[in-house]
Amino acid sequence: MNILELIEQRHEEAFTLHETYLNEQMVKVLKTIGFDQRYVQAQGAYLFDDKGERYLDLLSGFGVFALGRNHPQVVKAITDVLNAELPHLVQLDASILSGLLAEKLAGIVPAGLDKFFFANSGAEAVEAAIKFSRCATGRTKIIYCDNGYHGLTMGSLSATGDEYFRDGFGPFLPNFVSVPFGDLSALEQALSVNDIAAFIVEPIQGHGVFLPPDDYLSEAAKLCKQHGALLIADEVQTGLGRTGRYWAVEHWNVEPDILCMAKALSGGFVASGAVACKKWIFEKVFSRMDRAVVHGSTFSKNNPAMAAGLATLEVLQQERLVENARELGERLIADLKSLVPDYELLHDVRGKGMMIGIEFGEPKSLSLKTAWKMLETANKGLFCQMITIPLLKNHRILSQTAGHSMNIVKFLPPLILTEDDNKWIVDAVTDVIADAHKVPGSVWNLGKTLASQAIKARVASTG
Ligand code: PMP
Repeated sequence: MNILELIEQRHEEAFTLHETYLNEQMVKVLKTIGFDQRYVQAQGAYLFDDKGERYLDLLSGFGVFALGRNHPQVVKAITDVLNAELPHLVQLDASILSGLLAEKLAGIVPAGLDKFFFANSGAEAVEAAIKFSRCATGRTKIIYCDNGYHGLTMGSLSATGDEYFRDGFGPFLPNFVSVPFGDLSALEQALSVNDIAAFIVEPIQGHGVFLPPDDYLSEAAKLCKQHGALLIADEVQTGLGRTGRYWAVEHWNVEPDILCMAKALSGGFVASGAVACKKWIFEKVFSRMDRAVVHGSTFSKNNPAMAAGLATLEVLQQERLVENARELGERLIADLKSLVPDYELLHDVRGKGMMIGIEFGEPKSLSLKTAWKMLETANKGLFCQMITIPLLKNHRILSQTAGHSMNIVKFLPPLILTEDDNKWIVDAVTDVIADAHKVPGSVWNLGKTLASQAIKARVASTG
């Protein structure tokens, strides 16, 4: 079989194949909102469709393409490893690549984290963190935050506070309790019984791009320590440079007991994740020789993922991508924020580095207010689809809504954006927002059409 020939021969059938064998609801959503381009090539921050049009990718595969797509150094590392016919997944051995990647990660994770566990995804990293915290503390309860997202497997979903994802899948694991994000007294109260294994938190919530109050994470760390609970920082989305620091907890000088990472770790090529934790925690889990395999996952230390991870960390450093995320991200946020006073529908622009939320809300003037209210009544949160659709259709920018029932558009660009890309974004956002302030107008016509189809077509809702 020649795989490239096969793709070439049958690429037109992609949507039909998905309708028949995969998730046909997703196909309907994509067709309804017009996100049915046929992308045929990808390079760096750009996707190219079958007509040769170039798109700026501000979704980056839900945040996996921190280095941009198809980075040659990562491609080379993976293909070199495959071509070398190395022993792979021997399992009853100590593989060199996983040892090297753990060593490299040890050099960049927050202080105190010196042991590593590899996983195949963010959710799997979170599952391990939950199990490790229970085993290490001898306690069972986990505190998580309302609106938090930690994955869709049963344990990680039990710690995910978004009703959209929970609906239809309960009952969840017992002993999981939620607190409002940012509320220290609620956290203190939940911790006060001294029976909590861990508090799991995203330093910046991915759904909605919500930042914590400035003292929240450092005070939360102190409270956890005081009450014998572990602090798990879920940096699956925020980690590896996305927010302009290697780890988002660094913005607030917080040292968690356990840190979860995934997404960008393999440069977007191979499913991969990792847990970094304190040595004493690891030693409680893997406490004796007969517990050496008490937690694991068959593919987790696979050579392509480990090689891709090593190459990814090298590229992050060589190309100063964390710094680029910080510098260009700050400028992009500032430029977008400067639009707020001019546009009444635009309420807030916030974020850190290359994790940006653009929040819309009820306008003041009568005609816009009436249109807004009609749309919100028909389908809460639909308005921001009226931003993402013209961004794609008119400006070839791929973006996502930041969550369900919220009017927040989210950008998770690759960390390699340039000044030109920033200009592309600011010009496009300005144009689309200006259009949205015209009633009647094309944006509101689109809103009417979407509302009449009564879809909750949230593209990229798990990102
Ligand atoms: N935690 C966070 C903070 C995430 O953003 C995600 C994915 N969006 C996950 C966990 C789950 O990761 P995965 O989809 O790789 O299982």
